[in-house]
Amino acid sequence: MAGPVPALPGSFNPSADSVYSDQFGFYTMDYKVPGLSKVILDKLNMKDYKEYREALEGKGKVGFRSHKEMFQKLEETFKFCARCSKLPSDFADPKALKRCIKCLNVYYCSKECQKTDWSLHKKFCKMLHKVSIDRLVEWLIHTGDLPFPTEAWSRPAKDVRCWNDWLSMQGDLMGRLEPILSGQNMTDLWTNSCRPRPDEAELQKSVWRVCSEFFSRSLTIGLGIQMSRLDPYSRPLTVHLVGAGHNETLGARTTDLDELSHMFPGHQGLEVVMVGPEVVQGPIMRPPLRAFGPRGRVYISAYKGLYHEFWEEKVEKGEAAKPDLVVGFHPGFHASQGLGEGWLPTLLLLRDFNIPALFTVFNDEELQYSLQILLELEMDIKDSGPNPFSSQKPEQVQSSPNHSPSHCSAFYIYFQGLQETQTEQEETNTHS
Ligand SMILES: [Zn+2]
Ligand SMILES: [Zn+2]
Repeated sequence: MAGPVPALPGSFNPSADSVYSDQFGFYTMDYKVPGLSKVILDKLNMKDYKEYREALEGKGKVGFRSHKEMFQKLEETFKFCARCSKLPSDFADPKALKRCIKCLNVYYCSKECQKTDWSLHKKFCKMLHKVSIDRLVEWLIHTGDLPFPTEAWSRPAKDVRCWNDWLSMQGDLMGRLEPILSGQNMTDLWTNSCRPRPDEAELQKSVWRVCSEFFSRSLTIGLGIQMSRLDPYSRPLTVHLVGAGHNETLGARTTDLDELSHMFPGHQGLEVVMVGPEVVQGPIMRPPLRAFGPRGRVYISAYKGLYHEFWEEKVEKGEAAKPDLVVGFHPGFHASQGLGEGWLPTLLLLRDFNIPALFTVFNDEELQYSLQILLELEMDIKDSGPNPFSSQKPEQVQSSPNHSPSHCSAFYIYFQGLQETQTEQEETNTHS
């Protein structure tokens, strides 16, 4: 975003834990805290979700006079009683809501509400403390201070099985974090935000958690490449990222997935096309490649629309390469009531073209539900489980803070094509 308008922190995305579309998630907040979506729009001087989205896409005219004002307004969107859901507008004194002094994240309208809530809140207070630091530190992704620079991999991808393996290749990480921690943007952040600067150890951990979410995307795509036994050293590969939205495309840079080149050094060229109706305008919004990508580099492009439309308009006409792998970060098809209009054509397309696909979900419940839907579609589910490269940043449901946190891409499902049914097998046996 150009000009004096500061970018909105990514954590302000209306990412409820189970959303089919961002808009759906935005308004589901109102079930828990009636009026919360309106508070958010009011704070940002917007009239509806459409305007909010345009602002995120850099088209709107939303503006804050200063970073302080921006952080303040964002903090105000968390102001409702965690116990009785009352909003500041319910009180004569708008300062009636007081913040929990331990986490500086949840608010209460009275001592009684705080006392009654404590037996529940005490289980989440520590986690919510982290969450509230992370959502500010995330702003440094938008300023370009984060992610921190990474090292070339000293081990083959197959031997890097978890975050600890990855971290062990990063050498002196603290040395690289130092300039970020002592940087001007970090200082500005804590001068302007509504809470004191955490101590350095806490800040380091937060920087790591925020960056883990960023790197998790490259590493999860890499995991999919390995699971489908694709060899990026023998030929260029095309990966389609379906259901891409704010998280992957707001403020996205063409270098965002470069970790894949550290993972497969000297590969033949990796192309990632981000496809989704909520793709945000930016430098990655460029046509997909028709010929082979640049060797040893990752080329990102994007298409705003549903995947089956992209397929008809681009892939079938030969204007985009067929995918070797399709990846979806929290596609959320399990939460979609209108599955037919949204995800069903995409899922059937993946199945009928026998394309290897790796989808991630936020938690075990979503995993079970998603598996059930895929089974109903007779997908051949080859593997599923906890993602070793899950984001380490806890996510709070904004309207309902006292819950176990979710993590981006916490679980994965790997599937390809149509499952062989018992009858087909029997038939094959009879024929042979
Ligand atoms: Zn209350
Ligand atoms: Zn607390």
